[in-house]
Amino acid sequence: MGNCCIIVSPASAGHDLPGHPECNARMVNVLHGVPPGIPRRIAGPAPDESVHRVHTPYYTAWLRQRSCAAAIPGWLDADTYVTHGTFIAARYAAGAAIMALDRTLDGEHAFALVRPPGHHAEHDRAMGFCFFNNAAIAAAHALDAVDRVAIVDWDVHHGNGTEHAFYGTDKVLYCSVHQEHHFPYSGRIEESGTGAGEGYTINAPLAAGGGRAEFVAVFSELFAPALGRFRPGAVIVSAGQDNLSDDPLGNMNLRPDDLLYLTRILLEAVECPLALVLEGGYGPSHGAAISGILSALSSPVPGDQAEKNTPLPGTERMIARVKKHIPLVR
Ligand code: ZN
Repeated sequence: MGNCCIIVSPASAGHDLPGHPECNARMVNVLHGVPPGIPRRIAGPAPDESVHRVHTPYYTAWLRQRSCAAAIPGWLDADTYVTHGTFIAARYAAGAAIMALDRTLDGEHAFALVRPPGHHAEHDRAMGFCFFNNAAIAAAHALDAVDRVAIVDWDVHHGNGTEHAFYGTDKVLYCSVHQEHHFPYSGRIEESGTGAGEGYTINAPLAAGGGRAEFVAVFSELFAPALGRFRPGAVIVSAGQDNLSDDPLGNMNLRPDDLLYLTRILLEAVECPLALVLEGGYGPSHGAAISGILSALSSPVPGDQAEKNTPLPGTERMIARVKKHIPLVR
């Protein structure tokens, strides 16, 4: 089947707290969604020097010590548990993201189906189920090989950690579509970068309840033109499927097939393969969405334009405001 692989990590299972939304049981659903015939690769650990491009050595050492000392699960904040296996799981998850990126440089789409997720992790702090910022670590790694990297983040929550990692640079374009007024309560349109990075962070906050029409409008009117002008040499997707209608942690209204369609829009907008990294996704239909995304990657065909519906007026107003604010999409 097509030019596409998945990357898995047995270490992910070592970070687990049954009953917590971000527990290892969600991976069972995810892996059930992988269509037959897609090659699987096993992740290695991220090297320290790759992790330290995004996180401080002090934080990394602290997390290692905190994880090793956790005889029983403990808590780093109200949402984020730590176990004896957390540090190793997080290090391999970052390694999987790096491996996915390297696969794309070799011409193959790759989806790192690993946990814990990463996009809330700040340079010196765990947050929101996240320890190491897998997508940011892969993006920093990519800059060894290419001049410009784009990160598209469709998780229902804003990727505060990823945004902060590249807020001051024009080498990394960060595009996020997320539910507004929702955890972590960042990701406003006006957050658009600073200094050389001004205009290279694009936030598209959607009102709760938005579905296919809203996401398609954001992708085709904002992200695709921005990617076309930015011309990245590598593209990372922070793929959080907690934007599905049955997700317990979000209030958006996508169906699994919509993720297939959004993937196709990205494939048409960029010239390089996609490196996807799993973020959130906690509902029953998550596996079906994984199946749709991988189907789009392994047999890309033009999107079905017929189903393009008109987005809600609030979405059109939001898009108009982003266009005013970001020269890249004007
Ligand atoms: Zn999320």
